[in-house]
Amino acid sequence: MKFLLIVCLILFSITIKAQHIVPKLRYSYSSLEPFIDSITMRIHYSKHHQAYVTNLNKALGSDQTKALEELFKSISTSSPAVRNNGGGHYNHTLFWELLSPNPSKTPNVELLNQINKQFGSQDSLQRLINANATSLFGSGWVWLIVTPNKELKVTTTSNQDNPLMDVVKENGIPILAIDVWEHAYYLKYQNKRADYLKNIWNVIDWKVVSEKYINAVK
Ligand code: MN
Repeated sequence: MKFLLIVCLILFSITIKAQHIVPKLRYSYSSLEPFIDSITMRIHYSKHHQAYVTNLNKALGSDQTKALEELFKSISTSSPAVRNNGGGHYNHTLFWELLSPNPSKTPNVELLNQINKQFGSQDSLQRLINANATSLFGSGWVWLIVTPNKELKVTTTSNQDNPLMDVVKENGIPILAIDVWEHAYYLKYQNKRADYLKNIWNVIDWKVVSEKYINAVK
């Protein structure tokens, strides 16, 4: 009887562990002010991201063996709930990681060389990213990805799709992501998406982007 109880407890704890969770933020809701306001951060993280995770766990049920990256490779065969909420969870996890109250404003040498080679300068890359994000119709994300032939590329996706999914036009490893859903900026910037995009570079940590670049080109 005691043995059975222990087995049940172990199985139960494995089930708990297998659930997706919202990762801890490394900074406070208010620490990205004035560029991203505290209320937006709180709602975005604790309500929106949490909802993606809750709904993803619900949609996957006990079928939680695959890592998200694996799931995305054949997401065309998954339900819309897994695609939308799995994307929502992955994309926001990456986004929080890239933001910082004291960001490094320049890429490392390897990434900067590649940026200069392909885009002329960091400034022109950032302008290209913003132009793509501004012209994206509706909700979605703008990305800087490393393509399969190790080139950088700016791309956009709709809704919560991302460049790891087999349903998008450009596949690659995302090293930078900017959320261009209205929930990411509307409270502070209202209809002025371009102002949000101009300001967000004050809190994008190029050190994190550079680390992701190094891993992606390995
Ligand atoms: Mn969002």
